[in-house]
This record gives sequence, structure tokens and C-alpha cells, in this order.
Amino acid sequence: MKLTKLTEHIYYMEHDPETDRPALGYIKGKKGGFMMDAGNSAAHYQHFLEKLQENKLPPPRYLSVTHSHWDHTFGLWATEAVTIAGEKTNKELEKMSHWTWDNTSMKQRLDAGQESEFSHIHIQREYSHLSDIRVRTAEISFNGSMTIDLGDVTCILRDIVSPHCRDSVVFLIPQDEVIFLGDSYCSVPEGEVWVYDKVLLTAYIDELERIDFRYAIKGHHPPQTKEVLLGELKNEWKRL
Ligand SMILES: [Zn+2]
Repeated sequence: MKLTKLTEHIYYMEHDPETDRPALGYIKGKKGGFMMDAGNSAAHYQHFLEKLQENKLPPPRYLSVTHSHWDHTFGLWATEAVTIAGEKTNKELEKMSHWTWDNTSMKQRLDAGQESEFSHIHIQREYSHLSDIRVRTAEISFNGSMTIDLGDVTCILRDIVSPHCRDSVVFLIPQDEVIFLGDSYCSVPEGEVWVYDKVLLTAYIDELERIDFRYAIKGHHPPQTKEVLLGELKNEWKRL
């Protein structure tokens, strides 16, 4: 996957649907780099680091995740950066860090509805050895919002109501007018179909409309402008 420069300080590596690897982002600041989402495995994280190196960018000084889902957090343990997560995300990660990763335990969680079929299939595809999975919490957690000053650019980490999950955080980079959404714009898999909750989608659209940005980096789709993104979400809303 290639690393693309989106704006002056922002880079992203595109998503890869094969093993459900989400897009990963990077903010290049004078005081260091900030990585957005950790990847679905140490291999995914390392792949991103190689891309940074090819582009003469230093490894991240900070790394934060948008929510607790495996594909955004299972690379956390592999980083040497200072790690940050929303309080709700860290609580989920703490819970998951006690889970056992083998076929029997995974099947049990699938049957109990703790894991979706979609995640179940893609975890098996990403990991040839399930025992390689490590779940770690972030070192720093926050509630509401926090701002990281990277010298010439800042990153605002903030909670957002989302139709996708209860622990969504987005990263806002005001100088570049960019927002990193993670999966906050996504619906939820119910068996074969992905379903939006109308109340949550309404609240999400309202909140996005109030935030200033030009480009949105999405977890599992190419980046979009604010207009195109909101147009798409409103179309989904009309269909509900
Ligand atoms: Zn997700």
C-alpha cells in the first residue's frame, strides 16, 4: 500500500480490504510525528513504518486510536511511541486484553455475539498464527478532548457520537483543515447487512456539520471533501 501526502502536514496509507486493514494516518510536526490508528497487527504497523522511512519521515512520537475495534488497535503493542486513547476505548481494550486467541475461544465469542462474523473472518485472514495477537491498552487516556502541540501543527483528539460504536474519537488538524474519522462514519454489521441507527446517524451528521474541515480521512474508504461526505451520509439517512 502506498503512503499519500494529503496536505502540508498530513499523510495517509490507504486501507486494504483483503484482511480489513484500515487507513492509517500521520501528522508531520516540527516536534515529532503523530500516528492515527495503530493497524490490525504488528505487521500492519511495521508496514506503515517502512512507508514512513521510504518517505524520510521519522517514526511517530505519539500514536492514538479512533476506537477499540481490532483492526485499529492490535498494532498498539508494537509501537515505541507514547500511546493515547479515549477512556471508553481503553476500557474496552483492557477487557479484550484478557481474551484468549485460539479457534475455540474465538468461536465462543462469535456465538455469544461478542464478535461479528465480519471481524471473525478477517482476523483469521490477517493472522496465520492466532497466538501472535496481543492486545494492549494505551498509556494515556482522556475524556472529552485533548490537544497535542506538534510545534507547527496541532492535533485535537475528541470524542464524537457515532453510529458505528460507543467509543469513537476523531482527530482534527485545524491548520490543514483535515479530520481523521476512523470508522465513526460507518454502520454496524448485522449478519450479512450493515445497518445504520437513525438517531445516532442524525446526531453524527449534526456534529460533523459543526466541525470545520475540508478533507476527511476515512477508515475503510478513500478520503473525501466535507461536502461529498455529508452528502453521502444524508443519502444514507434518507433511506432509513
Ligand atoms: Zn470499527
